[in-house]
Amino acid sequence: MSNKRKVAILGATGAVGQRYIQLLQGHPWFQIEVLAASERSAGKKFKDACNWIMETNLPKEIAEMPVVNADVESVEKAGDVDLVFSSLPGDLAGPVESEFAAMYPVFSKASAHRMEKDVPLIIPEINPDHAELVKLQQKARGWKGFITTDPNCSTIQLAITLKPLMQFGLRNVVVTTMQALSGAGYPGVASLDIIDNVIPFISGEEEKMEAEALKILGNFNGKVVENADFMLSASCNRVHVKDGHLESVFIQLNQDPSLDEIEAAFAKFKGEPQKLKLPSAPENPIVVRHEKNRPQPRFDRDTGCGMSVVVGRIRKDRIMTFKYTCLGHNTVRGGAGAGILSAELFVAKGLA
Ligand code: NAP
Repeated sequence: MSNKRKVAILGATGAVGQRYIQLLQGHPWFQIEVLAASERSAGKKFKDACNWIMETNLPKEIAEMPVVNADVESVEKAGDVDLVFSSLPGDLAGPVESEFAAMYPVFSKASAHRMEKDVPLIIPEINPDHAELVKLQQKARGWKGFITTDPNCSTIQLAITLKPLMQFGLRNVVVTTMQALSGAGYPGVASLDIIDNVIPFISGEEEKMEAEALKILGNFNGKVVENADFMLSASCNRVHVKDGHLESVFIQLNQDPSLDEIEAAFAKFKGEPQKLKLPSAPENPIVVRHEKNRPQPRFDRDTGCGMSVVVGRIRKDRIMTFKYTCLGHNTVRGGAGAGILSAELFVAKGLA
């Protein structure tokens, strides 16, 4: 008999939900038990409710599974569940995730709870200690379960590259993003809006990047997270790329390390997932490329099975200390892969 944890995926038919299904195939610790989505999908077989857009085939047993409504009663009727992955739209995730958290550990990709004081905003390589916040949350809210969140996709890859730079005294960060279409979900941006075009606006994205990075890189003092002490300015664009967000990053440091020292800091960076050898941890959270025209989404987004952030074009800057380009797979490292890695961390720490 399998002793894997049984999981429900809320928002299973969406861009991130499908990635969860793909990445959880053959996972050593987790097995999919319940698939939930909106009432438009509930009552249908998954294959009839979902337009499968992953590169790999829809697994046969998943195709035949029923989709249920994303509420506690419907999910409990459909199966015994140990933990919940939520990839619901941000505007409705709030109350739904709270309802589940009363009973279950909830790993959320949605923005609804990210900035609440007792909710961890986790990138396992950066702030695994923030996971302990769920103990305070359970006490304050009287929940048996909890909510923990992953950052916004464009923030995750940026924050991973900022962490090794903090040793040099991070002062100011300016970032311009070129974000893939799958970041807008499915069906997402209308083709006539994006073909032959770049859209220089993503609702709420700049505000999320500017706020979330400071919490993730902040210090948990045992009671609250004190924000990191640097400034970040973001400018976000939607581009005509399927997967993989590219970001152009300008950094001002207090110190003046050489480019070799900066590159070494990126390349050497490892975190708790690597030490613990968590199943979804990439060997290298950051991979540095030296070609003058890399990283590129089409060639580099699957580096480390989509879990590594690829950095290139590291160079000095006339105004700031230096600049670089980074790339991350938004539905893997920025999406379902992040949620799964967080859940692995919580299980390894005995918190879930
Ligand atoms: P999506 O493709 O639009 O999928 C949304 C999912 O939520 C679908 O399964 C949909 O089910 C379900 N849903 C919609 N309305 C619902 C309702 N009223 N009740 C219950 N379920 C409902 O969106 P996504 O890109 O996967 O994003 C999901 C979440 O992850 C969002 O909060 C997003 O901000 C976040 N996120 C996305 C990315 C990314 O790269 N896409 C990365 C990080 C975080 P139906 O098919 O039945 O409508």
